Amino acid sequence: MNDKDKIKSPAIPFIPSGSIPGRIALSLSFAGLLLLSLSLTNFGFLQNAVWLTISLSAIFIGIVWYARTLYLGHPAGIHNNGLWFGSLTARGVLGWSVGLVLTLFYIILYWYPQFLGLHPEEGNTGLVGFFDPLSYLLNGHAATQWFVYGTLYTLAIVGFGYKFILKYRHNTYQVIRTISVIFFQLAFAFLIPELLSKLHPDKAYFAKDIKNMWPLNYYFFEDWHLKNMIDGGTLGLFMLGFGIAMVFLISPILTYFFGKRWYCSWVCGCGGLAETAGDPFRHLSNKSTRAWKFERWSIHLVLVFSFVMTVAVIYSFLGESPEYSMITRNQFVYGIVFLLATSIGVLYLFKRKKMDKDAVFTMVTLGLILVLLILFNHLSGQNEILFVDSYKLRSWYGFAIGATFSGVIGVGFYPLLGNRVWCRFGCPMAALLGLQQRLFSRFRITTNGGQCISCGNCSSVCEMGIDVRAYAQRGENIVRSSCVGCGICSAVCPRGVLKLENGIEKDRITEQPFLLGNDIHIR
Ligand code: SF4
Ligand code: SF4
Repeated sequence: MNDKDKIKSPAIPFIPSGSIPGRIALSLSFAGLLLLSLSLTNFGFLQNAVWLTISLSAIFIGIVWYARTLYLGHPAGIHNNGLWFGSLTARGVLGWSVGLVLTLFYIILYWYPQFLGLHPEEGNTGLVGFFDPLSYLLNGHAATQWFVYGTLYTLAIVGFGYKFILKYRHNTYQVIRTISVIFFQLAFAFLIPELLSKLHPDKAYFAKDIKNMWPLNYYFFEDWHLKNMIDGGTLGLFMLGFGIAMVFLISPILTYFFGKRWYCSWVCGCGGLAETAGDPFRHLSNKSTRAWKFERWSIHLVLVFSFVMTVAVIYSFLGESPEYSMITRNQFVYGIVFLLATSIGVLYLFKRKKMDKDAVFTMVTLGLILVLLILFNHLSGQNEILFVDSYKLRSWYGFAIGATFSGVIGVGFYPLLGNRVWCRFGCPMAALLGLQQRLFSRFRITTNGGQCISCGNCSSVCEMGIDVRAYAQRGENIVRSSCVGCGICSAVCPRGVLKLENGIEKDRITEQPFLLGNDIHIR
């Protein structure tokens, strides 16, 4: 029986058996990876530029070719049968092996880049040296481990993005959203910062991912970054103003109208990699209530940590470089306290009737931040927050959240815990947007409960671990702070039950504990 017949048969799971062209395509990608690995051994490539082009092209062409053999021979539509039978996608030996290799790669990348060949003083060797020609071409400097990582990261999003588009080609939302993440990664996170760095080599703030905003970009308010922007002329001041406007104006407005999906599923690079390269692992997210409880604690604690760390760093900056600011430390701290107190007041006045556990959690989080800040201002010394040096706090944050959580666990554990571990449990940006999505947004997923046949496809593919089916069975709108609006639940539903909507806010949150059939007025 061939693959096409298997798709037609409801009794036999469709597991792509891997055609010969598909195997050749995969071998081509692996050959490219092998060439990159050879560079680690300082293999004597005569022309690094040529061999680098060959290896990156082989990896990319292999992925694109493989995707074509996998999807173009079959009718459009999502065929997730067999997900739990594959060694790679069902935490088998292959899944564990890939997880281990990725984890090891991230550990070396963050803490032992010299093993990748990073030697800024005496000249790069190994893998980093292999990328020198491309780095000189794009930004005018020798490569760093971050340039290597950025290049491979972008290659993965573009290559697997193409695969994703073929897989979901019948669904316009998925196609457009994927083109969007590919564009933002390629242009805003990779090419523009590299080219700006070449044009303005003395301006360090250009050489970063310019679509990342605070709190995901946790160095935005650090002293060196603030000074660079303030000293950076019109362009520097524009970037400072734009960065602040993104946090306090543009992002809240977009989240109000579209939910957090505008960022998490359309713009963000972490989300971009999760959606494209991580797509085969989305079903591995934990759907249990325990995981949901853990998620709420962990993500909000990270948000508090990130917020307090940022306030501490700005506090130190204002003390050490008063000439750069128009406000004093105390004005800053009490300004923040006032802002938070006002937020809690507004929440209480306008949202208290709609508050469930998520919202209570919001209040607790904000209250906790408030208390910490007051303690901070009264108990700390020159550069200290709660008796801890603010720069130490910043480096702990960088180690625990910026490196360990977002990189090692966030990507390394794709094949074990699913593709959105970081977004779900550790991303402060997702937490912040999620708070707003839950309380002040039009976004919701509506459910036509009477049509639901309880197949569970939607829950299975939800990368954020939301039990979508439970909402659908009750005909209840899905308004969850964690939902990134990827829309895959809606795309896989065979009955058209789920719809992502941005209607008016009224009646967005529905509480209908019973199956209603088609008539929502019957109780
Ligand atoms: S509920 Fe649907 S749209 Fe939201 S994260 Fe889950 S799969 Fe994506
Ligand atoms: S909402 Fe759709 S995908 Fe989810 S259980 Fe019901 S019929 Fe299946």
